[in-house]
Amino acid sequence: MTSVKKSSPPKTKAPRSVFEVAAALKSRYHDFDHYNLDDPLDELMFIVCSTKTTEPSYLASYQALKSVFPSGQCLLDATEPEIAATIASGGLSNTKAKAIKAILSIVATRFGAPTLEVLHQMSDAEIERFLTTLPTVGRKVARCVMMYSLGRNVFPVDTHCWRIARRLGWIRPTQKGGHCSPRDMDRLQSKIPAELRFSLHVNFVSLGREICNARKPKCDICPIAAWCKKIGVLRTKQK
Ligand code: SF4
Repeated sequence: MTSVKKSSPPKTKAPRSVFEVAAALKSRYHDFDHYNLDDPLDELMFIVCSTKTTEPSYLASYQALKSVFPSGQCLLDATEPEIAATIASGGLSNTKAKAIKAILSIVATRFGAPTLEVLHQMSDAEIERFLTTLPTVGRKVARCVMMYSLGRNVFPVDTHCWRIARRLGWIRPTQKGGHCSPRDMDRLQSKIPAELRFSLHVNFVSLGREICNARKPKCDICPIAAWCKKIGVLRTKQK
């Protein structure tokens, strides 16, 4: 492990329109953080709880998890069935409990305690390399933990970010079917200036939920319509 605390990504040159889109979205959504958390282990548990369920459901199941097992040690000491019963309301509870136990066990073995505080002392590359060795943790989840709880200037590409960036014309997928590959995640991240990454991520999520839906984007009321090429949208009937 190096002694690097935070990386300073090279300055990304971007068209003025990227800054204008970021400003328009910030003015509408105010960088709302979607209830994400400051502690990296809490954030990771929160993301595990949020898998394939609705926001009210995962907020409730994470709150239940945290109130019954307030620390990493409590989770490490708990059994899978105990954890599954606690988060049952969020669905897929057995799968999520299994992942939580496996993650806690690996973290405790690697760092001597069930905590991810040590990540603060690691470089971006080291953090991402470690987190992506954990069960259920891919590049997107790793970058969410890095961005939300470690203050790193990364850009997690979730389904909303990917859809909106494509419609804007900021990126073309390299995969058949338009799926976002790890390489595409890196390509999109590299196009977004470091200082805009947090803001654009959280505000794309807000826009994707409210207006730029997968099936029926409401372009007529969209705050960034003036900058959008609407790639793949024009042929879709809007109602
Ligand atoms: S103009 Fe339409 S396609 Fe473009 S970001 Fe807005 S809602 Fe999405």
